[in-house]
Amino acid sequence: MIIRTAIDEEKEFGATVIGDDTDLLVLWIVHAPTNNQLKMVIPKKDRYKAVQSSVQSLFREEIRELHQIKEKIVLTKPSKRNPSAIIFNIPKSFTETSIQQGLRQIFPQDLKVKFIFKGRDTDVQNWVFEVPAQHFHLLKDSQRVPINWTPFKISQFIHYKRSNNCQSFGHLSRDCFFSAPNCAYCGGHHETSLCNAERPSCITRYHHNIRFGTIMQLNHSSRDRSCPCLQTVKQNYLKSIDYT
Ligand SMILES: [Zn+2]
Ligand SMILES: [Zn+2]
Ligand SMILES: [Zn+2]
Repeated sequence: MIIRTAIDEEKEFGATVIGDDTDLLVLWIVHAPTNNQLKMVIPKKDRYKAVQSSVQSLFREEIRELHQIKEKIVLTKPSKRNPSAIIFNIPKSFTETSIQQGLRQIFPQDLKVKFIFKGRDTDVQNWVFEVPAQHFHLLKDSQRVPINWTPFKISQFIHYKRSNNCQSFGHLSRDCFFSAPNCAYCGGHHETSLCNAERPSCITRYHHNIRFGTIMQLNHSSRDRSCPCLQTVKQNYLKSIDYT
């Protein structure tokens, strides 16, 4: 019998694997950070579909054993992280030195580069920096940073992961455990680019309803910026940040 647990960085979900070499059972654990309690356990991946109808009875057994699992799980309070800043659409020809010089107009020290990713077009890229918590107010007060005599838009960067394959939050496509894709627009089992559905249906909300037994409206695309699931993910990130 092996038990392995991983809690994701937002500290809201964990995955636990229970079983032996021949029969592995993957469980999601939903944990309430306020009182450190494990609230619900449901299976993940193909097993979810396979045993959907018998989930309740199956997991009644597992839940009975939860106290054993609990002893093996270390639930820790999430440690606060420094906020991040993003500067948009900097020409690729600009050096980090010139960007740091620009940032010195706002911050009293160089900022650590977290990562760089593609911008609005092929000639430009977005830079993400770590901002020490004590300097966050300087970021909040700034909308532009002058680099090589040109003002560039700067703002707080909100980190979250979303799978372009299954559309769930918390992991990237390359780590996705679903073999068939979910459409970001209608939630059907096809690539989003091949969608010809007339109406949107949010797959993220759909999974949320299943997981939490809610009956929320699905009539928007999962890429809608106002999707409540996305809002929650963003809020959780903002709550995890150190602003002192
Ligand atoms: Zn995925
Ligand atoms: Zn579709
Ligand atoms: Zn949604």
